[in-house]
Amino acid sequence: AIAFGVPEKTVRSVCAYCGVGCEINAGVKDQKIVGIHPVQNAPVNKGHLCVKGRYAWEYVYANDRITQPMIRRQNQWETVTWNQAIEFCAQKLKSISQEHGPDSIGIIGSARATNEDNYCIQKFARTVIGTNNVDNCARVCHQPTAKAMSMVLGTGAATNSFDDVDEATTILLAGANTTGSHPVIGARIKQAVLKGANLIVIDPRKTELAKYATCHFQLKPGTNIPLFNAMANVIVTENLYDKAFVNNRTEGWELFKNFISEWTPEKAAKICRIHPRLIREAARLFAKQSPSICFHGLGLTEHTQGTENVIALVNLALLTGNIGKPGTGINPLRGQNNVQGAAAMGCDPSVFTGMASVRTERQRFEGIWKTTLTAGKGLNLPEMLEAASSGRLKAMWITGYDVFFTMPDANHTKHAFEKLDFVIVQDMFMNETAEKFADVFLPCASSFEREGTFMNAERRIQKVRKIIPVPPNVKPDWEIVCNMAVAMGRRELFNFSTAQDIWNEIRSTWAAVYGITYDRLENGGIQWPCPTTRHHGTTILHTESFPREGGKAKLSAIDFIPTPEQATTEYPVILVTGRELYHFNAGTMTYRTAIKDICHTDLLHVNPEDAAAFGLKDGDNARVISKYGETILPVYTDAAIRKGEAFSPFSNNLVFINKLTSSLRDNYVQTPEYKITAVRIEKA
Ligand code: SF4
Repeated sequence: AIAFGVPEKTVRSVCAYCGVGCEINAGVKDQKIVGIHPVQNAPVNKGHLCVKGRYAWEYVYANDRITQPMIRRQNQWETVTWNQAIEFCAQKLKSISQEHGPDSIGIIGSARATNEDNYCIQKFARTVIGTNNVDNCARVCHQPTAKAMSMVLGTGAATNSFDDVDEATTILLAGANTTGSHPVIGARIKQAVLKGANLIVIDPRKTELAKYATCHFQLKPGTNIPLFNAMANVIVTENLYDKAFVNNRTEGWELFKNFISEWTPEKAAKICRIHPRLIREAARLFAKQSPSICFHGLGLTEHTQGTENVIALVNLALLTGNIGKPGTGINPLRGQNNVQGAAAMGCDPSVFTGMASVRTERQRFEGIWKTTLTAGKGLNLPEMLEAASSGRLKAMWITGYDVFFTMPDANHTKHAFEKLDFVIVQDMFMNETAEKFADVFLPCASSFEREGTFMNAERRIQKVRKIIPVPPNVKPDWEIVCNMAVAMGRRELFNFSTAQDIWNEIRSTWAAVYGITYDRLENGGIQWPCPTTRHHGTTILHTESFPREGGKAKLSAIDFIPTPEQATTEYPVILVTGRELYHFNAGTMTYRTAIKDICHTDLLHVNPEDAAAFGLKDGDNARVISKYGETILPVYTDAAIRKGEAFSPFSNNLVFINKLTSSLRDNYVQTPEYKITAVRIEKA
């Protein structure tokens, strides 16, 4: 039951939702949360919270929360003790590993869990199972960002801080509906514009911030590269680039200059379906009215050229010297509260903790963990599903992530899960993956019921504090992982009594966070790199040089290769999926709060003229059909959408929009192309 009343105490912690990482003060009475308020002097949110952070916390008291471990036998869930559940899982994992090899098992970390949880999860995969088959949900969101930025800048994380919004003269916002998905930062951008900053918005929809923009590019979905290349063309041909920065701090200039000469605004405008004059205006604004800062979201990354989209954006910052200074930089808006942390802890098949390559740093980690590690990169999540389909992967352990509901092309995902011999789901609720495919359910604590740290989108490590007691038969993820390791005979590697013990081991593996101790975090978050306990943390990266060989960043010639997923006579509408204000990702938490009374379903946003042509009006049910599947959802006529396009969130399990989405993926890191699916819309 939800508690009400005057709090007896307040506990400071971090919001359970997005990667902005707002700090909260939770009011507690009779050991229950009775309200949440923003921390007034928090560096990130400065006294603000959005509707989710402020009001959407009652899911911890939902009646359908799972509070006992369970094993499914003859298709019936049986409640068991923790000892029984752990022993059962340990025996299954051991026998699968012995029969089919350690690489027949895949483990998925959680962007909703703490750094300490994720560190244990990847360490378990590598040291107990003996596989690098470990991944997390960054694979389906900002992995292209991490890949692109580490390739051309040397570090796959935001270069600057949210406070740089206030220092910028021009803000470029690409593929991010910030007032919906990262509302507190959306509000800060809006305030900056009201105080005089220029705003360039690149989005196929006329988002709320597009209404405040000096230039809004309502471009054809999937055509970011031509636009960025044409802006670079204008900057170079009009001699607006920063020659000293290009000469001293970048490599690849001659090649880039030749390549970019062909990308005239006229050429790009035809592909993007925008006006060339606007491209020139935006390029001049970005180059002349600096400092200029870039923020981007999944509108850049969830494409077949997701990684290349980000590289093409980085080119603009490098050309104009808008990096390594206040009010500049490339700043990905991360989706979940600890998605940056899950990846940085090593829940990634190609890197250990601290983004250390499994190829080059295996020996160092063998020394730290005192065990032999497997060589070579493991499977990422889409590759695990492929391997499951072909019978090579036999088991998955999935923590805090509804893989079936959120992966694209649900029929394909279903086929993969059906082929697995053994699935463990660790979550708070019986999510779609658990309900359909799990053999064992392990109930884990919410972020209100555990100690640890989260890492926000600006590299800030913040303390997560236990606000309320954990329910009697529920455990924090790290404790479950440690118990499993002990049951599988590796107690010596998981001898942790507290989250702080784990954090101290993390500090010993990753020099950039060595200086961040739990004691120091009591006074507020610290941004890495923070190499010593006297260091204050780093608000801006790359001020002097880039951590690449030679110390220079790379200007890159990025060609445009249109996605094969195009509108056709049979499927004439391009569907874009994304988040909206009221619900969060798979809706697992927000649909269990009063927010569902404000917004109780996903809606299909359709241009009013298109809706009329399809015989649909507001509230009608539309049948939406793609090559991959079909679903039904209510229509919302929306002039913010261009004709021939449609938009839907992906949070409602009755709608299940991922029955429709394309199976295409990013060329480098296999992030799904959620942003482009050709569909047909009919009256249901
Ligand atoms: Fe939470 Fe993000 Fe909203 Fe801040 S902006 S309150 S972190 S959901």
